[in-house]
Amino acid sequence: MYLILLGPPGVGKGTQAQFLIDDLKAVQLSTGEVLRAAIANGTDLGKKAKTFMDAGDLVPDEVILGMIHDKLEELEGKAVIFDGFPRTEAQAAGLDVELEKMGKAVDNAVALTIDDEVVVDRLSARRVHPGSGRVYNLLFSPPKNEGVDDKTGEALVHRDDDQPDVIRHRLEVYHESTAPVAGFYKKQGKLLEVDGDGTVEDVRGRVKAALKDLG
Ligand code: AMP
Repeated sequence: MYLILLGPPGVGKGTQAQFLIDDLKAVQLSTGEVLRAAIANGTDLGKKAKTFMDAGDLVPDEVILGMIHDKLEELEGKAVIFDGFPRTEAQAAGLDVELEKMGKAVDNAVALTIDDEVVVDRLSARRVHPGSGRVYNLLFSPPKNEGVDDKTGEALVHRDDDQPDVIRHRLEVYHESTAPVAGFYKKQGKLLEVDGDGTVEDVRGRVKAALKDLG
């Protein structure tokens, strides 16, 4: 199974992906996490991606698609939830080509929807555990102990691109390049739209219901 999670930065894709991993026995493929790990490890991929990421701009499609090609091989046979990918129509088309080579296809795209101002408030309060990708929010889902991950006790970080100015820019980028990706899947009859405003559990329930309606 190949499931896409779409929606603006901060709508809760990472959080919902964590639930879906459990609910669907799947693995999560977050391109943002892969890129951040590449930067931390000083790899070529990381060097290519860093300036774009720091500015809140999209990393070029060919860089992303090369990375996806490698990851799909690595994860062959597993159910995959894509989080933060595809972000352009070219990436969505490129994913279809890669999957077709494997005799597979995207099953569904779940688009989480929300107002921009809610996103700015939410993201400013977001903290991440870099090792696992676990996401906390000081407003709704704070860690048990301030500043550290619940499972490992390691320090949480406030991402540079979660500062308000960069968030607003990322939202502009989203509306320009990424929102049309929902249209791409709509045309294929694979789009499920889910209201992303509300508590983490509310949204989890809506996502589950949307996926269940399929069966
Ligand atoms: P995220 O953690 O998904 O919000 O991604 C953080 C940053 O990584 C984005 O602002 C982009 O600079 C870059 N990035 C992650 N995924 C992609 C993608 N699929 N296409 C282009 N850039 C990406």
